[in-house]
Amino acid sequence: MQIQFHGKRALVTGAGKGIGRVIATMLTSCGAEVIALSRTRADLDSLASEIGCQTLQADIGDPIEAEKAAKQAGAIDLLINNAGVSIPQPFLNTSLEAFEQTMSVNLRAVLIISQTIARGMVQRGQGGAIVNLSSQASKVALTDHAAYCASKGALDQLTRVMALELGMHQIRVNALNPTVTLTPMGEVAWSDPEKRNGMLSQIPLGRFAKPIDIANAVVFLLSDQAEMIHGVTLPVDGGFLAN
Ligand code: NDP
Repeated sequence: MQIQFHGKRALVTGAGKGIGRVIATMLTSCGAEVIALSRTRADLDSLASEIGCQTLQADIGDPIEAEKAAKQAGAIDLLINNAGVSIPQPFLNTSLEAFEQTMSVNLRAVLIISQTIARGMVQRGQGGAIVNLSSQASKVALTDHAAYCASKGALDQLTRVMALELGMHQIRVNALNPTVTLTPMGEVAWSDPEKRNGMLSQIPLGRFAKPIDIANAVVFLLSDQAEMIHGVTLPVDGGFLAN
């Protein structure tokens, strides 16, 4: 199966590191014109020199910056809402600051950026595809992840409502729900050997995901090969959720 995105413009949020960086690289190799959005300038500069993408530096936890960046991206055919944060804290000690920061990036920014981009898609009348990076943490409770689980559960529901309302414009919207993935975020959240081994023992395939496992699924969901897949929350979890 040959997937190609020649003539398509893709906006990838959180493209500086981890999963987003691999998605941006893979989309470029499939022929898309990629606009990489992230927070750290050095990450964007090194990505641009590697793959030749355009870059946008913004902190999308700030609603004004999020909207401005989405407008600056211009006409977009493929949107990947990948940027996310995880601030592990026990429920009883979850700070308002951590809760608000998590919600502002993992949820509010998706709303703001998707509204701006989808309005353009509707106006141009050529459809589009959106993939939201959710998590297995939307489906099950994870210790020390109250804010994160809440943000991803809400993101799954936002995905479904977007699918319901945007389908008539031929804009497909889906979410991906990865298991622990070996990125800077994954390494921090699962650095404790006891927690790490406990999680690993619940993954039937016996390993954590690699960013490329997630990028492969994103590219598929964006492609015409997935043209009847809409409104799903797709685990990429080595079977964790089959438990
Ligand atoms: P990383 O922390 O490795 O990378 C996240 C990227 O997003 C970084 O480039 C970061 O930039 C950027 N980013 C974060 N906050 C903002 C912001 N406010 N504005 C702009 N850019 C921002 O995360 P992952 O690659 O691991 O995760 C990507 C997505 O996948 C997230 O939505 C995450 O929740 C989800 N996911 C990850 C899993 C994992 O185990 N890794 C498992 C399941 C889902 P900077 O470093 O400059 O802040």
